[in-house]
Amino acid sequence: MKVLVTGGMGYIGSHTCVQMLEAGIEPIIVDNLFNAKEAVLGRIEALTGKAPLFYHGDIRDEAFLDSVFSAHDIAAVIHFAGLKAVGESVSKPLEYYDNNVNGSLVLARCMEKAGVKSIVFSSSATVYGDPASVPITESFPTGATTNPYGRSKYMVEQCLSDLFVAQSDWSITLLRYFNPVGAHPSGTMGEDPQGIPNNLMPFIAQVAVGRREKLSIFGDDYSTHDGTGVRDYIHVMDLADGHIAALNAVGSKAGLHIYNLGTGTGSSVLDMVEAFSAACGTSLPYEICPRRAGDIAQCWAATEKAERELGWKATRNVAEMSADTWKWQSNNPNGYTSV
Ligand code: NAD
Ligand code: UDP
Repeated sequence: MKVLVTGGMGYIGSHTCVQMLEAGIEPIIVDNLFNAKEAVLGRIEALTGKAPLFYHGDIRDEAFLDSVFSAHDIAAVIHFAGLKAVGESVSKPLEYYDNNVNGSLVLARCMEKAGVKSIVFSSSATVYGDPASVPITESFPTGATTNPYGRSKYMVEQCLSDLFVAQSDWSITLLRYFNPVGAHPSGTMGEDPQGIPNNLMPFIAQVAVGRREKLSIFGDDYSTHDGTGVRDYIHVMDLADGHIAALNAVGSKAGLHIYNLGTGTGSSVLDMVEAFSAACGTSLPYEICPRRAGDIAQCWAATEKAERELGWKATRNVAEMSADTWKWQSNNPNGYTSV
């Protein structure tokens, strides 16, 4: 089976391509390399023994995308491509709506023309906003988003849901990721953020490797077990497997399928610092700073629906997430550029 993977050179996409190749699914990658390095291709090939087909191009380029669809017998699309920095989305809203919303519309239109009616979309737990309680089930209200990035994810969910209302023979799968972290256990592939990392785990990893002086912990006065923010961190390999489970279970079934991809367990910022310190063997310097605007106290997933309907469950714990991140970061202190 051939599956078009938009954004397949990025963090989650590259790990998913590895797992697809291991499972006998052929990824066809489209990526504009805005936030990825071409070196990723060689890493995928080294791990799997297979070189995925890669098209360097932008999903908003309709003629280009049409040509990719007409060159292959594509069964489904996994749609990772997009911009993802929450803070940047506040200062560049038009770029975020153009890339994330318009890009998804162009993709859906090309799929329609090519008669490809199965899409798995990278959504986010951010669509739930600040939940009234935890764990969060898929039926919790969505849309109370606090920034353009979150709104762009919510808008694409709405567009694809409306498409399903109009054309009920589509299979549309919305996967709401919680907090993806970790790296391939080989230490050859991982997250390679450009500039100062916005997210906790890559920041901690760069402190551990000496690229940053110390971690700023954004608030220790939340009503959580130690006062710091609690999130549902999920290993990127579990997340990758979740996409394959979704393709296999519902990718060829008409319907609007919505799943949380998380572990069902919450960890605080201090829990993550402790887990990472154990993995790298040194204690990590940090300071307590004011809360970050827009942050919520806690959030973790209800995972029963994905377990029941996809037969998928995350299996890797925060110790493995930290150990694999450390292996990647210490082997590649400057990410893919150090090759
Ligand atoms: P990433 O930036 O590593 O990967 C995205 C890839 O898409 C990059 O390789 C980039 O070059 C490419 N891209 C961007 N715009 C493009 C365009 N117009 N045309 C072609 N390629 C384009 O991000 P990631 O962490 O792998 O995230 C993948 C998806 O998952 C994104 O849609 C993101 O919003 C979503 N998501 C990520 C997280 C997270 O914490 N990483 C959480 C929830 C949802
Ligand atoms: N966080 C932090 N310092 C950082 C980055 C993040 O204390 O440098 C905290 C943040 O306040 C939140 C948690 O770590 O409680 C996860 O933040 P991240 O940005 O990784 O994910 P998100 O906020 O999108 O869930």
